[in-house]
Amino acid sequence: MDDDETISIEKKHAAAVYAKRPLVIDRGQGAIVFDRRGNKYVDCTGSYGVAIVGHSHPRIVKAIQDQAEKLLSCHGSFYNETRSILISKIMKIAPSPLTKVFLSNSGAEAVECAIKLARKFTGKKEIVACMGGFHGKTFGALTATWGRKYRDPFQPLVPNFKHIPFGNIDKAKEAITADTAGIIVEPVQGESGVRLPPDGYLAQLREVCHEAGVLLICDEIQTGFGRTGKLFASQNWNVTPDIMCLAKGVAGGLPVGVTLAREDIMSSLKVGEHTSTYSGNPLIAAAASAAIDVLIEERLPDRAAIMGEHFAKRLMTVRDKTRAIREIRGLGLMIGVECRFDVLSVIMKSIERGVLVLDAGRNILRFLPPLVIQQSELDFVADVLEEVLEEEVRGRLQGPASI
Ligand SMILES: *Cc1c(COP(=O)(O)O)cnc(C)c1O
Repeated sequence: MDDDETISIEKKHAAAVYAKRPLVIDRGQGAIVFDRRGNKYVDCTGSYGVAIVGHSHPRIVKAIQDQAEKLLSCHGSFYNETRSILISKIMKIAPSPLTKVFLSNSGAEAVECAIKLARKFTGKKEIVACMGGFHGKTFGALTATWGRKYRDPFQPLVPNFKHIPFGNIDKAKEAITADTAGIIVEPVQGESGVRLPPDGYLAQLREVCHEAGVLLICDEIQTGFGRTGKLFASQNWNVTPDIMCLAKGVAGGLPVGVTLAREDIMSSLKVGEHTSTYSGNPLIAAAASAAIDVLIEERLPDRAAIMGEHFAKRLMTVRDKTRAIREIRGLGLMIGVECRFDVLSVIMKSIERGVLVLDAGRNILRFLPPLVIQQSELDFVADVLEEVLEEEVRGRLQGPASI
């Protein structure tokens, strides 16, 4: 099938729910993906933050191949060694009081489990979430999500949810009532443009929840697994939540959701109350075990911190040279670049020059590269961005629109 046919079939028959980029990706290695003609692209989208250990990491590929020959499916009602190995690896990296896990198939499912847990354990109904927050698009997760464009077409959503300003501890205190089950928060907000809370916020929120008997749920689906320079972003502020959600990169690129909780909390779920047919699938478990090994052995969280710092410095030079950038925000290799204008054409021009980057809102570029990315690859990205932004600024000065 040639690229034109590939594109036309997706266009004709796939639900048109993605803002498509004009590129057919054929294979990947590390932080690079290739099209069919063999052109290289530095992938700063990381398949939306998923390719944390890099594309087609040989150890993940091998683990998948070996497991595939042995057993592809095994329902949670039977025991399986590959699953047990994964669970013990997760326990080795999980913050200490979070000794129980529920495995699922996506980020949204990890959040659904967290919401149900909070209600079941506390016997209370209200869930507090943050303005600007993103937690997925199934009904519970969607109700915790802030963005109107995701929510409005699907009203009515789940009752007893409310939103508070991210980073404002007084508003968090005010929002808690006798019927509050949990507060869900991203330690660093991803979809709304890489927003960091004020420094003491997460620790204060921890304290407030503790005093009020409210569960603190950290959605680390984007920030977790080394992305911000620590295994989990909440560790940047020495905070341990009562429930933690993970997904994205955990299985080296395959679909997975992980909900971690304290033992007493997870034990509130009884047989049959929350299950999923694929939960703990051996193929996914094999991939995730290999991904955790890679993450630890290749010291990817440290690498994220070092490379993130280097890249942020390069971006500051780009900012000084181009005057196109309003703000650079980030932690580790989770970096947002807020521009003075819409970034769609910046994204398209970058693709033509061999760089893939995400947006987060109209005027923010977001970089979620694999943590194995090389310094030279980040330098290339910065060079391309400088060129493209310069061109963009020049175009805008000449054209009718002003910046
Ligand atoms: C991606 C993401 C989700 C949703 O994950 P899906 O696998 O798309 O359901 C939830 N929360 C955060 C913070 C995310 O970045």
